[in-house]
Amino acid sequence: MNSIIANLMQVRQRIELAALAAKREPEDVELLAVSKTFPASAIEEAMHAGQSAFGENYVQEGIEKIVQLAKLRPWLVWHFIGPLQSNKTREVAEHFDWVHSIDRLKIAERLSTQRGEFSDLAPLQLCVQVNVSAEDSKSGVALAEAKALCQEIAKLPNVILRGLMAIPAPNADPALQRQAFTAVRDCFIGILAANSADLGFQFFDTLSMGMSDDLESAIAEGSTMVRVGTAIFGKRDKIHP
Ligand SMILES: *Cc1c(COP(=O)(O)O)cnc(C)c1O
Repeated sequence: MNSIIANLMQVRQRIELAALAAKREPEDVELLAVSKTFPASAIEEAMHAGQSAFGENYVQEGIEKIVQLAKLRPWLVWHFIGPLQSNKTREVAEHFDWVHSIDRLKIAERLSTQRGEFSDLAPLQLCVQVNVSAEDSKSGVALAEAKALCQEIAKLPNVILRGLMAIPAPNADPALQRQAFTAVRDCFIGILAANSADLGFQFFDTLSMGMSDDLESAIAEGSTMVRVGTAIFGKRDKIHP
């Protein structure tokens, strides 16, 4: 069997087992296939195995594939998950369906304005990226600042606030993996509780956390979307970290 298809089946099984172990419904955890550095042909293979949501980290590379696979839309749903600079927001607003990596208001404001220029497009779905590992090199807003940022984003037109995203520092110890994910989940629950009456939070339902090496821990702590690259497509070339 083709290895991408076999890998996908394996990842789906890992998700199912982790969800059942946590007494959750497997359908409540969406699989985002992270296709960065892999060609459009790999995405098509995954698509033939029923995968529709794909994540890209680099604006130009992602858009090239989106354009190549344009005829497969709207079945394919594109998530931008990498760091986003102001000068790239217009292209992201034009081509992607989701952005997971919002860590300052200015970027969300630009996306909102620019998305509004494409009247045929649905609102852009946004997640605020939180920094749980307190490493300077990692992007994301501090947990303590996430609520205020979400409240500002919730007021913007042409975007929908969907939840939080996190990339904890890699850790081989499942207990420490879970600690980081617990912190994100508690932050998410706190934000939701404080804003449950606000219409801007009515679609705040997404906890984007968990990757190839820690998806079980993330699901145990409430992840609703795991972002998996290596376990589906194989190891990436070193030039793309
Ligand atoms: C690359 C990447 C992933 C996927 O990581 P794997 O370890 O290959 O599963 C997930 N999320 C983000 C933000 C990434 O950049």
